[in-house]
Amino acid sequence: MLNKKSIDDINVKGKKVLVRCDFNVPLIDGKITDENRIVAALPTLKKLIADGGRLILCSHLGKPKGPDPSATLAPVAERLSVHLGQTVNFLDCAYVECDDCRAKISELKDGEVALLQNTRFRKEEEKNEDEFSKELASIADVYVNDAFGSAHRAHCSTVGVTKFVKETAVGYLMQKELQFLGNAVNKPVRPFVAILGGAKVSDKIPVINNLLGKVDKLIIGGGMAYTFFAAQGYGVGTSLLEKDRIEFAKEMIAKAKEKGVELLLPVDTVVAKKFDKDAEFKTVASDGIEDDYMGLDIGEKTREIFSNAIKEAKTVIWNGPMGVFEFPNFAKGTLALAQVLAELDATTIIGGGDSAAAVNQLGYGDKMTHISTGGGASLEFLEGKELPGVVAVQDK
Ligand code: AMP
Repeated sequence: MLNKKSIDDINVKGKKVLVRCDFNVPLIDGKITDENRIVAALPTLKKLIADGGRLILCSHLGKPKGPDPSATLAPVAERLSVHLGQTVNFLDCAYVECDDCRAKISELKDGEVALLQNTRFRKEEEKNEDEFSKELASIADVYVNDAFGSAHRAHCSTVGVTKFVKETAVGYLMQKELQFLGNAVNKPVRPFVAILGGAKVSDKIPVINNLLGKVDKLIIGGGMAYTFFAAQGYGVGTSLLEKDRIEFAKEMIAKAKEKGVELLLPVDTVVAKKFDKDAEFKTVASDGIEDDYMGLDIGEKTREIFSNAIKEAKTVIWNGPMGVFEFPNFAKGTLALAQVLAELDATTIIGGGDSAAAVNQLGYGDKMTHISTGGGASLEFLEGKELPGVVAVQDK
């Protein structure tokens, strides 16, 4: 399906291979709290090492606006060394053209690995400017993009650099992400059900729009459901509400009808008077939210209806929790769906970001067919957009 050159199509022996990874890992006090993204990069790195490439890895981490010690990739180099069982030489310098970096890169032997400092230490990175792109390209014979989580951004290290390197390819992680998401969206085994939740309708407008043309059922829960309640004339109390999206919600309800897609909205909701993990709560019908209450989770009846709606599915895509899953009292809806998905004989795909965190936190991560490593990138993919980081790689 994917017609991009992959690391199976290139010969890297003795060549300097610049690999754009997604090492944008969560850090607390300099310690990595979730290594999933490092682990996900290993198949590509091991293959390139075994093939005798001289690897120069790069990635961004966080959102620094220039050099910032709290966003250093040093902890990644340390953990990566352990995972690979060999030293990863960390080049703690934002200027890869400096004499020291050049010397260290030229000393790399076949199968050895270096990691550059955070690409966002350079302001040019996010502007996709030629100067930094050329600089990155100047240290590489081959460029491999394996950073699915950054593929929706046109930056120097994801797009610009490809203009100046002769040979480019995608890595295994990128390939896997595109295959799972692509097959699910474009040739799903049916019934195909999408579950959308999370905080905001506005974030997911293009996704809802695109998926309504493809799915058999669309389930909507989480904070975004309340705008759909308002679209049906229900009061929503102090729940999340995007007034300027009520019209859109009405249009989507109409579009679902027109396309013959079953659109499922919560029939009941768990409400509380304040946004607090210990807030007293009760369950009310969707059209029964009192003025001083806010909806924080789907209710019990809804859990049952949504669970039944998924049971026959052969492909499920899930993006966005059903409630405030960070508070155990309001995690029951998200938990119930995770449990159903875990037992399903179907392809189950979880969008990155909060959905991945929710499924992992609730202990069902290893029961899903695929958990995307890219929140923003997977959303843009579900919107039907082309990802610039993928488009920029050479075709086969
Ligand atoms: P998103 O990044 O759009 O997928 O949103 C994820 C966030 O939505 C999580 O932090 C949830 O706590 C939050 N969320 C889900 N349901 C609700 C709700 N009913 N009210 C407020 N926040 C919610």
